[in-house]
Amino acid sequence: MAMKIGILGGGPAGLYFALLMKKADPGHQVRVIERNPPDATFGWGVVFSEETLGALRDADYETYIEITDTFAKWNAIDVRYRDQTIRSRGHAFSGIARKELLRILQQRCRQLGVRLEFEREVADLEPFRDDDLVVAADGVNSLARRLHEPRFEPSLDLHTTKYAWFGADLAVDAFTFIFRDTGHGLFQVHAYPFDAHTSTFIVEAHESTWRRAGLDQMPEEESLRFCEDLFRPELGDHKLLSNRSIWFTFVTLRNRNWHHGKIVLLGDAAHTAHFTIGSGTKLAMEDAISLATAFLRHPAGLEAALTWYELDRQPVVERFQEAARESATYFESVSRYRGFEPIQFAFNLLTRSGRISRLELEKRDPRFVAAVDRRFARTAAGGPGGTAPGATAAGATPGGTAAGAPSAAGSTAPSARAAGGTAAGATAAPLLAPPPLFAPFRLRGLELPNRVVLSPPSEDDAVDGLVGERHEAELAGAVTAGGGLVLTEPVAVSRDGRITPGTPGLYRDDQATAWRQLVEGARAVGAARLGVRLTHAGRRGATRPRRHGVDRPLREGGWPLLAPSALPYLPGGPVPRELTEREMRELREAFAAAAGRAAAAGFDLLALDLAHGYLLGSFLSPLTNRREDGYGGSPDRRVRFPLEVVDAVRSAWPAERPLAVTLQADDCAPGGLGLDHAVTIATALRAHGCDLVEVASGWTIPADRPDYRRFYLVPASDRVRNEAGVATIAGGNLTTADDVSTILAAGRADLCLLDPRLYAGVDQVA
Ligand SMILES: Cc1cc2nc3c(=O)[nH]c(=O)nc-3n(C[C@H](O)[C@H](O)[C@H](O)COP(=O)(O)OP(=O)(O)OC[C@H]3O[C@@H](n4cnc5c(N)ncnc54)[C@H](O)[C@@H]3O)c2cc1C
Repeated sequence: MAMKIGILGGGPAGLYFALLMKKADPGHQVRVIERNPPDATFGWGVVFSEETLGALRDADYETYIEITDTFAKWNAIDVRYRDQTIRSRGHAFSGIARKELLRILQQRCRQLGVRLEFEREVADLEPFRDDDLVVAADGVNSLARRLHEPRFEPSLDLHTTKYAWFGADLAVDAFTFIFRDTGHGLFQVHAYPFDAHTSTFIVEAHESTWRRAGLDQMPEEESLRFCEDLFRPELGDHKLLSNRSIWFTFVTLRNRNWHHGKIVLLGDAAHTAHFTIGSGTKLAMEDAISLATAFLRHPAGLEAALTWYELDRQPVVERFQEAARESATYFESVSRYRGFEPIQFAFNLLTRSGRISRLELEKRDPRFVAAVDRRFARTAAGGPGGTAPGATAAGATPGGTAAGAPSAAGSTAPSARAAGGTAAGATAAPLLAPPPLFAPFRLRGLELPNRVVLSPPSEDDAVDGLVGERHEAELAGAVTAGGGLVLTEPVAVSRDGRITPGTPGLYRDDQATAWRQLVEGARAVGAARLGVRLTHAGRRGATRPRRHGVDRPLREGGWPLLAPSALPYLPGGPVPRELTEREMRELREAFAAAAGRAAAAGFDLLALDLAHGYLLGSFLSPLTNRREDGYGGSPDRRVRFPLEVVDAVRSAWPAERPLAVTLQADDCAPGGLGLDHAVTIATALRAHGCDLVEVASGWTIPADRPDYRRFYLVPASDRVRNEAGVATIAGGNLTTADDVSTILAAGRADLCLLDPRLYAGVDQVA
C-alpha cells in the first residue's frame, strides 16, 4: 500500500531509508526535511568494517557500488605508545568522507524521486501532520523524541572524556591509536584515512586532563594549535583541520520504545554507540534496512511493521552498545595500563570490547599473536617485564618470592613498573610459544603448571564435616582434568559456620586427617595443585542441601546463626545474632586453627571467602554491616575484622604458600559494595599478605540484580589487578580456552576459573 512518508533529518539514516522505501514502492510519496544545505557537514570521515558492507550490497547495489568505489581501504591498526608503534594487520576497514556518503545518498534519492527539502529547520511535527509515517532520523538531539519523551522513555549517559573531531591533511596508512602522556594527563588520538589526502583525527582526553591543559578556556583555533603541537611527531609538517571541531562529551542514548503511533526513531535518534567502535553510521544504515524490510513484511499494518522493526533492531543495537560501553570504558581508564609493555598494551586495546578474541586476531595476523604469546611465555618464565602484580608485597612478606627467583605473571602491573630489567633466571625468548593458558604461574613457593582453575561443585554430602569417598573421587577427577589449580568447595572453619549440614569442615583434627588422605590421593594421580576454600556461612548458614534449593532454612536440626548485624538473609528467615567482640576473637582463632589444619593436610594454597554474603563478606558490605562499634560504619571500619582474620590466617599459614581471597567486588544492589571499594579493599589485602584475589559478585542480599552475561567478572578482575597491583583469578562464565588466553594475554587476570561441566562428555548425536 502506497504511503505518505515524512522524514525529519537528512543524515545517513534518513536518506538511506528514504531511498530504500521509494525503491521498494515508487508509489510511496517520500519527503526528507533537513536543516543544513546539501553539501554541508560536520565532522570528517566515517569508517565501515567488512561485515557492514554485505548488508549494504543486498539492500541497494547502486549505492553500494558508489560507496565502495569511493572508499579509502586499509587493513592495519597501529598502536603508538611509549615511542613504539605496534602494527596489527588483517582487519579490513574502509573509510569514506561523510560529505561524500551524503552526496551519494542524496543523488540516489533524487534519482528515485524522493523529495529533498534542505535548509529547512523543523520546530515541531506540524509539517508531518498529513503523513502516514513520520520517521525521526534527526540525530542524537532528536526533536521528535524530545516532544514525546514520556512515550519513548529515553535515558542518557554522559561519558567522562572530552573529544574533538578534527581532520588532518595527511592520509595515515592504518587505523591509528596514539597515546601521549603530558604533564596534564594522557591524551589519545583515533585517526583513520577517508581519502587519498585526508584523515579523521579525533583527540580525546579525560575531562580533568582536558581542564588541566586549559582547553576549557581556549577558543577553537587555539585548541587546534594545542593538539597540533602535541601530536607534532605524528603530523610532521601536516596540519589539523577544523570544521566546527569543538569539544564534546559523548552521550550514550537508549530509548525503551522506538515507536509511538505513527512516529518511529531511526539511527542516532534511537541510540548511540561510543565512537571508539566506529559503528554509528553502520547502525543508522542498518536501522534503515530493517525498517524498510518491516514494511515489506507487514505492508498493510503500520503498528505491526513498527513493532517488527523494534523487535528486530533493539537486541542487535543493545549488543553493540554493550561492546561500545566496554570500549569507551577502556579509553576512559586506559592510564591503568601505562605500565604494560607495548605489545601487551596493543593486544589489550584490540580485545577491549570483547568482540575480538585472541583466536580471531590469530586468524587476522598470526605474526602479531605469536609475538604476544612469546612475550607472555617469556615473562611467565621470569624474563624482563614479568613481575607479577603484588610481587613487591609478596617479596616484602615473610617467605615472599625470593629475590632473583623467577616470578610469574603475564604482564607488568603498574605497581611493578620498575621491574622490567633483566631478571636473574631470565630465559632466552623462544620462537614458538604456547597460548597463554599453558604458561606456568608462580606465587611465593607455588608453581602452577598452567593458568586454569577448576572448582568441583559442592554436593553437600559431608557427614559431620567429614569428607568421604565421593569427595575423594571428585578431587581425583579434578586434578586429572587438566587445570593448573583445583579449589575445593567451601570448607567451614567451625560447626556453626557450615552452609548446610553437608558442608565439609576443618574445625577438628579428624577432618584434617581425612583431607590429608584426599590430598595425597589426588597428588598421586594428577599434576594440578590444590587449594582449599575456607569459609564461615554467617547468616546464610543452617540451610537445606542445595539440591533442595538455595538458602532454604533447615526445618529441623538448625543452629544459631552469627553475623555482623542481626539482619536475616531472607525476609521472615532466621535472625542471626550480632557478633560480640569475644565471639569475633574466637572466630579469628577458628580461622587460624583451620588454616593450620589445612597446612597439615597438605594444601598448596588457601583461599579465604570474603564474598557471597557469607560472614566475612557481610562485614564488608554496608547492606549487611550496620554495626555501631569500631567494626561498622565507614569502609575502613567494615574491612577491619576481615583484615584481622587475614592476619590471623597469614600467620598460621606457611609463609612459602600463597594466600588467596575471594573478594566481593560488587553487591549488584543499590547502596551496596561497588568496584571502587573493591579496589581499596584489595589494596589493603595485598598489604596484609594476600597474594591472589578471586573476584566475585552478588549474593550479599537475595534481592540483588547480578548480570550473569559472559565475562561478567572480568572487568572487576581487570580493575583489581591493574589498580590494586595484586594477581587475580577471573571467572564469569568463561567457557573456552580462547576466552582464557585472551584474558590472560590482555593482562586482565593471571588465572581463569572454568566450569569443568562445560567440558564433560561430548554430544553424541547418533
Ligand atoms: C567523533 C565522532 C566520530 C564518529 N565516527 C564514526 C565512524 O567512524 N563511523 C561511524 O559509522 N559513525 C561514526 N560516528 C557516528 C555517526 O556520525 C552517527 O552515528 C551517524 O551520523 C548517525 O546518523 P543519523 O542519520 O542517525 O544522524 P545524523 O547523522 O546526526 O543526522 C541527523 C540529521 O538531522 C538533521 N536535523 C536534526 N534536527 C533537525 C531539525 N530540527 N530540523 C531539520 N533537520 C534536523 C541534522 O542536521 C542531521 O543532518 C561518529 C560520531 C562522532 C561524534
